[in-house]
Amino acid sequence: MQPGKLTILGSGSALPTFQNSPSGQVLELCDKSFMIDCGEGIQLTMRRMGIKTARLYSIFISHLHGDHCFGLIGLISTLDMMGRTQPLHIYAHADLEKLLRPWLDYHCTEMHYELIFHAINPRKREVIFSDRTVTVETIPLHHKVPCCGFLFTEHHRDSEPRKRYAYCSDTMYKASIAEQIDGVDVLFHEATFTDQWESRCKATMHSTARQAADIARLAHAGRLIIGHFSSREDNHDIFLQQASEVFPVTELAVERKSYTI
Ligand SMILES: [Zn+2]
Repeated sequence: MQPGKLTILGSGSALPTFQNSPSGQVLELCDKSFMIDCGEGIQLTMRRMGIKTARLYSIFISHLHGDHCFGLIGLISTLDMMGRTQPLHIYAHADLEKLLRPWLDYHCTEMHYELIFHAINPRKREVIFSDRTVTVETIPLHHKVPCCGFLFTEHHRDSEPRKRYAYCSDTMYKASIAEQIDGVDVLFHEATFTDQWESRCKATMHSTARQAADIARLAHAGRLIIGHFSSREDNHDIFLQQASEVFPVTELAVERKSYTI
């Protein structure tokens, strides 16, 4: 079996910049391709990189702030124009379907594939997907709106140890998050702000790079990837420097870069 591969499509936060797109990534694991969050413009980055949209199996949306889901309606429409026929599964808060339905009914009246919405409760830890190769569980987080991360666990990897990847989207710092992902191989954790913006960080219920690193440390993570960078700080080396002081095995989420899981 091929090792897992994570590709960053967007590593910025709410305000798109020339440097960063809003959140989005693709995880290729166990011969399946999962999208995690879908900010505006993500589909273009995906196509520029030659990531095969036909292989996209399902989409997981952490919460309904626009920078995590504004790209969905465009992607859904594009997949139809590209001739998709296989169903597409979308896992998100129940309100997502309510919000998208009028757009789908207006713009996508003759869809050639089926959209299957799975309503998740972001406040509850639960298995939301499982097949013979991989399980996906929610990771309840603490944000201004209901929000959860996702923990992907391989069932089997030949004779090699199974791999686990955790995606922790928007959240304020809570040490208890680490207990939910103890021993994870690779952790992506939002790091919206540097130390300098700590009060803004609290007010918006986000994490600093240092706090993200502390979660990685408490969780005994193998590696940490930080992203969701605020447009207020364009020198990302500062995020890396502050996180690395707490957790040395930290990397920046760089758009259009892939990471082995
Ligand atoms: Zn948010």
